[in-house]
Amino acid sequence: MESIVVAAGRPHEPGAPLSVPPLLNATFRSAHDGTNAYLRNESSDSVRAFEQAVGALEGGTAIAFASGMAAIAAVVEGLPSGSTVVGPVAAYSGTISLLAEQQRLGRATVRSVDITDTDAVIAALPGADLLWVEALTNPLLGVPDLPALFDAARTAGVLVGVDATFATPVALRALDLGADVVMHSATKFLGGHSDLLMGVLVVRAPDLADSLTARRRLAGAMPGALECFLALRGVRTLAVRMERAQANAIELAVRLAAHPAVTRVRYPGLPSDPGHERASRQQSGFGAVISFEVTGAAGDAERACQRVELITHATSLGGVESIIERRARYDIDAAAGCPPTLLRLSVGIEHVDDLWADLTQALAELPSLTDGDPVRS
Ligand code: PLP
Repeated sequence: MESIVVAAGRPHEPGAPLSVPPLLNATFRSAHDGTNAYLRNESSDSVRAFEQAVGALEGGTAIAFASGMAAIAAVVEGLPSGSTVVGPVAAYSGTISLLAEQQRLGRATVRSVDITDTDAVIAALPGADLLWVEALTNPLLGVPDLPALFDAARTAGVLVGVDATFATPVALRALDLGADVVMHSATKFLGGHSDLLMGVLVVRAPDLADSLTARRRLAGAMPGALECFLALRGVRTLAVRMERAQANAIELAVRLAAHPAVTRVRYPGLPSDPGHERASRQQSGFGAVISFEVTGAAGDAERACQRVELITHATSLGGVESIIERRARYDIDAAAGCPPTLLRLSVGIEHVDDLWADLTQALAELPSLTDGDPVRS
């Protein structure tokens, strides 16, 4: 994987540049043989170079999209009208909203389940068309039992899509485990620098690749060449960025778990985390996002976010820079069960001691746990 991220998607002809340059162009001259290309329909070398690299990383055919949401929409909106989707109760808010919208429009029935509860998911599968899971879940960092869910879905004849944005291809190869579709918001770890918006799907079945490519064309969801160039440039350092970010994340999770203003740390890299055993079995890393709950009320947690200096208070995640956010500030996350004081921390590649110093000062004004408080979980 460390070598694939560096080598995949490069031109090989003698005299070729090492990287496919961003081809900033939408229209191509017609040829006399009738060849007639337009970016939204035909893609371009810049898009294909990114797709080759991600396809090689995941072990399938990659189809790039203008955003992560456009990628998810291609799967969900490509289902026949009247389909049934088994989806997570708690997941990325955009996904929850998209599924709810499909239901509101009468296009799909959504069965919402706790996707970390294997029995509940399996019970919801009969008659369904699509199972959509997140590994890991955003923002609660739940770990679904992927092999068990994929087996059950295959038996029930249900297509399975996995949003692996949090795990990244460094930590998870979901197609190898039996997923039909792997999805990434390339805006996050693949791009890695918070400077582009892109998504990607990876599949193995040729007919699925064809139908999702057709959805991209119909929806006009082709990414721009500059975004593809930047995203592939980000992929080149994915392995080293993840190595550093995950090492930082484990260290910060351990330190946060012992902090007097932290009531709970959700990070599957901690042996005490309910998802640790599953994640250890099916992943080769625990990712670089930590969610933790703090003492006090929502306002206290919000003020802690406003006090960070090295860390950035912002939405999104997956960049070289650490980012923190109280997710329950969004009604949709609060309604999906996100605790009011949960802070989602996307851990970057800064020095861990500098991150810790910043967190410590940001959390300093929160009430400390005392002997009378409930036991940490
Ligand atoms: N999936 C997950 C897990 C996300 O966190 C996000 C964005 O935050 C998305 C999908 C949507 O991706 P994008 O913002 O690229 O549309």
